[in-house]
Amino acid sequence: MRIHAIQTGTVAVKASQADGGGHRRRSFARLFADRRWTDPLPILAWLIEHPEGLIVVDTGETARTAEPGYLTPWQPYFRLGLREWVRPDEEIGPQLRRLGFAPDDVRWVVITHFHTDHAGGLAHFPDNEIVTSRRAFQEARGLVGKARGFLPQHWPAGFAPTLVDFASGVFGPFPASTRLTQAGDVHLLPTPGHTGGHLSVVVEDDETLVFLAGDASYTQRLMLDGRADGVAPKPSQSIETLTRIQRLVAERPTVYLPSHDPRSVARLAARETVAPLAGDVAR
Ligand SMILES: [Zn+2]
Repeated sequence: MRIHAIQTGTVAVKASQADGGGHRRRSFARLFADRRWTDPLPILAWLIEHPEGLIVVDTGETARTAEPGYLTPWQPYFRLGLREWVRPDEEIGPQLRRLGFAPDDVRWVVITHFHTDHAGGLAHFPDNEIVTSRRAFQEARGLVGKARGFLPQHWPAGFAPTLVDFASGVFGPFPASTRLTQAGDVHLLPTPGHTGGHLSVVVEDDETLVFLAGDASYTQRLMLDGRADGVAPKPSQSIETLTRIQRLVAERPTVYLPSHDPRSVARLAARETVAPLAGDVAR
């Protein structure tokens, strides 16, 4: 199954957002006070050429974030915690067309969570079926969603995604899952932590799993080290999720692809699976 990485610009966050350290939740004041930024990191979305139709996972970012007032002006995170660089031709719509596909041809658009660098490209899919978790949709709605840093004001008019409740049963170490395709080879898994409703997508491609992680962790290393990020509402929930992922990649050959890992594109190209024990004496 062909899977394409689509990079929709770059993002930098505070170093203590990418790696939040231990189980204690970080305050935003501490995050904002951190003077260290990450390098510019890729903002990745994914296109799966599935026999049942094209599947897009996340929509990447929009160049509109540079417009004054686009990012909720009273939400300090956008001024103090986030830097983004996106050109209009880097948005997912033009990139799909360059690959030879039309956004209209996409069968499912799966959203891992509604942070702007994952849902910013929704305007390219006004008539497509959008699939997300019920919790991811609910946590991002309305004024409370805005206060949490989501941008529901930019969702397409009448936005009504298909909401998933993970009713298809166990998937490896995950207690619940949803099968997206009839073939049963594309699974949506609850991976709460970074946000409460976060989901990840697992593609079974012969013997190998391709794990489209969203922001379950910012890098493969942070997943293997079980480090929650610095914005997770409940770091312990994130660590529980990372532990499940560690067990899955130990059980089955898995290509693990976070949305902002600088190595994700190369790992996908090489189908490089996680080697959990390599150089990892502590575990
Ligand atoms: Zn996020």
